[in-house]
Amino acid sequence: MNLILENNSFHYELEKLCRLFYPEEPIRVLENGVQPELPDPITAYAGVQEKEGKVQLCARFRDDAEEIHAEAEYIPEQYGDKSPERQLAELLYELLVQQTGFSPRWGILTGVRPVKLLHSLIAQYGQEQAVQVFQKAYHVSEAKTKLALLTMENERQLLNREKVNGFSLYIGIPFCPSRCAYCSFVSMTVEKTMQMIPEYVQCLCREIEAAGKVARELKLSLQSVYMGGGTPTTLTAEQMDRVLGTVQASFDLTDCMEFTVEAGRPDTVTPEKMAGLRRRGVSRVSINPQTMQEKVLQAIGRRHTVRQVLEAFQMARDAEFTDINMDLIAGLPLDTPETFADTVDRVCKLAPESITVHTLALKRSSRIFQEGQQRASGAAAAQMLDYAGPKLIDGGWRPYYLYRQTRILGGLENVGFAKKGCESFYNAAIMDESQTILACGAGAGTKVCDPSGSGQLERVYNFKYPYEYISRHGEILERKEKVKQIYDQYTAQ
Ligand code: SF4
Repeated sequence: MNLILENNSFHYELEKLCRLFYPEEPIRVLENGVQPELPDPITAYAGVQEKEGKVQLCARFRDDAEEIHAEAEYIPEQYGDKSPERQLAELLYELLVQQTGFSPRWGILTGVRPVKLLHSLIAQYGQEQAVQVFQKAYHVSEAKTKLALLTMENERQLLNREKVNGFSLYIGIPFCPSRCAYCSFVSMTVEKTMQMIPEYVQCLCREIEAAGKVARELKLSLQSVYMGGGTPTTLTAEQMDRVLGTVQASFDLTDCMEFTVEAGRPDTVTPEKMAGLRRRGVSRVSINPQTMQEKVLQAIGRRHTVRQVLEAFQMARDAEFTDINMDLIAGLPLDTPETFADTVDRVCKLAPESITVHTLALKRSSRIFQEGQQRASGAAAAQMLDYAGPKLIDGGWRPYYLYRQTRILGGLENVGFAKKGCESFYNAAIMDESQTILACGAGAGTKVCDPSGSGQLERVYNFKYPYEYISRHGEILERKEKVKQIYDQYTAQ
């Protein structure tokens, strides 16, 4: 697909908009009205022109031979817009809807955090008008607006618990027993990296100690811990105990409201590991079936069975975990709306405290994308979510955090549902980007938020790959010092 832009630099937003309609087409962006060397049957055009002191917006779209176009005068400052970007996107959006017959449920929104946008619109205009802007200017459907409002209400209650000097700790374990077909993370399979893990654990513990020192010096108060990955329970019980022991020794956990460990792959869960997590104060675990259909599990390369999911869940309950999350994915290969509904029903019967419903994202580096594996259509994924949402809400699980990803099927969303009082503070905080997250481990990114609440945020990244993380660990420790400098800059302002 060609996207031609004239007199504007809105390629980031407009390219994402085109991708909503053509998720698998490579998109060539041609700026300053440059005409494509290679003609493409699918071509979009978005231009801005000044005529007699007025700004004129123009969009054109051609799929095969048929071309349609629309023009409009830019209305400055409409809904707080400082540039014509949104209105131009709206013009192009309407042509894309007309030509493809597909109306994305989140309208022209392409961002990761629609709930955050709705919250800021409400702060600007009040709820009634903000809802109108959401639906009329951004073209969000009524159902998704309702979902965003409900999610925001629950999320805000959690975020009210954020302390001025509060922070959360993230610990990354980038290893997994095998690679899932939809995975795009830098996670390494155990077969290839078994020998690297002891050294990784050693470096990780050093970084956790350094993070603890920074937190003490800045007098920060730890509110939640999240150990994710990869699959943290890929570590042995001893390795896990060492990491958790280091967390306990390095931080004051008195005000820590939750301590989550992802035990995502049921084939890595053992009674010994679950008991070890409980002993070290872990309060929440995530056991992730993704699907309760054997053939779907095989198609996505999870290498575990439905029975193992049930056993892992029972092991967590036997270890007295009273806060368990289970992740599901809508749109996986070989899944249908009917089999997905069956998965939802079976997971609901287990009665975990939280259920997170993801929609498949077609990441370029995933096997599904690269091998062109068959998966559900956007419409089928939408049907799956239409079943899951009401079923969970009727069952007492309430949506409390929501995010979207690039190339997510049907432009849909991922939603965390939880029983009242079991919502994860960490998940809400990371979505809102309002709290500092000190992150340790390969691929982890620390976010330092201005404690005054100005919304300023700075990021400090670790090396992506475990081998770099190990071989250049001195630099990782130095970067922890940078966190202090950023705090100093904030307080000096
Ligand atoms: S468990 Fe998660 S991180 Fe690991 S391979 Fe599967 S999707 Fe990737």
